[in-house]
Amino acid sequence: MLHIAVIGSGPAGYYTAEACQKQFGEACRIDIIDRLPVPFGLIRSGVAPDHQSIKAVSRRYEAVALTDNVRFVGNVTVGEHVSIEELLALYDAVVLATGAPLDRPLGIPGEDLPGVVGSAAFVGWYNGHSDHAALAPVLSGPGAVVIGNGNVALDVARVLAKTGAEFEGSDIVAHALDALGTATIETITILGRRGPHQIAMTPKELGELGHLTRAMPLVDAADLPPQEADAALEPGQRKSVQHLRDFAAHTGNGADKPIHIVFDFFAMPIAIEGDGKAERVIVERTALDGEGRATGTGETYAIPAALVVSCIGYRTPPIPGVPYDERLGRFANDEGRVMPGLYAVGWARRGPTGTIGTNRPDGFAIAEQVAVDVAAAGSGKQGRPGLDTLLASRGVAPVTFRDWQRIDAAEIARARAGSPREKFTRVEEMLKAGKS
Ligand code: NAP
Repeated sequence: MLHIAVIGSGPAGYYTAEACQKQFGEACRIDIIDRLPVPFGLIRSGVAPDHQSIKAVSRRYEAVALTDNVRFVGNVTVGEHVSIEELLALYDAVVLATGAPLDRPLGIPGEDLPGVVGSAAFVGWYNGHSDHAALAPVLSGPGAVVIGNGNVALDVARVLAKTGAEFEGSDIVAHALDALGTATIETITILGRRGPHQIAMTPKELGELGHLTRAMPLVDAADLPPQEADAALEPGQRKSVQHLRDFAAHTGNGADKPIHIVFDFFAMPIAIEGDGKAERVIVERTALDGEGRATGTGETYAIPAALVVSCIGYRTPPIPGVPYDERLGRFANDEGRVMPGLYAVGWARRGPTGTIGTNRPDGFAIAEQVAVDVAAAGSGKQGRPGLDTLLASRGVAPVTFRDWQRIDAAEIARARAGSPREKFTRVEEMLKAGKS
């Protein structure tokens, strides 16, 4: 029997389990360990609450979870309840699918001021992640700045701009819906340190900004390259840039809607200032050098903002004893191999890029590598019974998938009208619902 432990129950973790099932069939047992009592990682707490069609992929993971050779081991923290060394001694293969839940730092003065938050925290807050439910972001000023030109910046700007009615059908948590309902933000500035051709925003997500009830995207036509230059872009990027052109072509300067989402290109944040809290972002105008990098021009200006959300990418938390690439913020690995018996998939392997589906081939690649590295019959390691004995000796009672199904049912039962669920945001609440 081949024993595989996957650390992390997000998309990369479940795709790996699915791939191992396909590769090894009944000859393997897979334990998916998560520090939270609830599964699905980024699907539950990263994907925007108003993107329910993306979240529906969790049904596929559920089908994997309900098979006999896969087990969810929730509320167990690797590094606290069990070490990597112990897992390597118990399992033929240990797969790190821990994602990238830490915000990359901005590295500019003022980033620690109250009012400045990273997107992991902000997104976790409106999605009810237990680490971030108490964030209480400042929503009372007239200005907010969102730093970055990726899809997360779009998620954040859109969530800030939507009306309560526009969250109908979403699973945004009540504390965020209530707080956003009292927000007084009128101008959301999205800062891009490079230009429209360098955005990392996909067309569907960008297009959504053009259909908001009370908010209007504004683009300065002077920032756009000549239309004929779009021909050199790959088709998806060309569509995204076309959305920016459509936003720029809209006449009326946004007078018809009260909230403005202003795209400020060639704009690099160099400091955040204020009297004990964020009040303004100091921005330096940039130009692109010959390699397409942003370089400061020396021209600076200030954008008033009580809330600053940096959406500039994420890092994987290191684990003691596991080789780590500081520069890239992920585990050091060679095509997913970290060290004998230890593998990495998803953002923990590649860094924080790609869509949910991008993680699927990662899982299949690792299953093939395990097949090459480990004898199909396994190496006689204990696997599950060994982990159970170890955890029991430490007084740790893992949350099972059956427990999660009870939490799931309780969240659905708590749902407000028009919402598919109301998530528990405290671990104790989740544990209680899982056992009742
Ligand atoms: P991202 O796509 O890598 O975008 C990060 C942005 O931050 C880039 O525009 C980057 O600019 C900018 N940036 C980096 N460092 C900066 C700094 N020091 N100052 C100013 N700007 C800086 O990352 P993301 O938005 O976090 O998204 C992560 C992944 O999740 C992406 O693959 C994304 O597509 C995916 N995602 C998908 C969806 C969806 O499909 N609906 C939703 C959310 C996220 P440069 O280009 O100049 O480096």
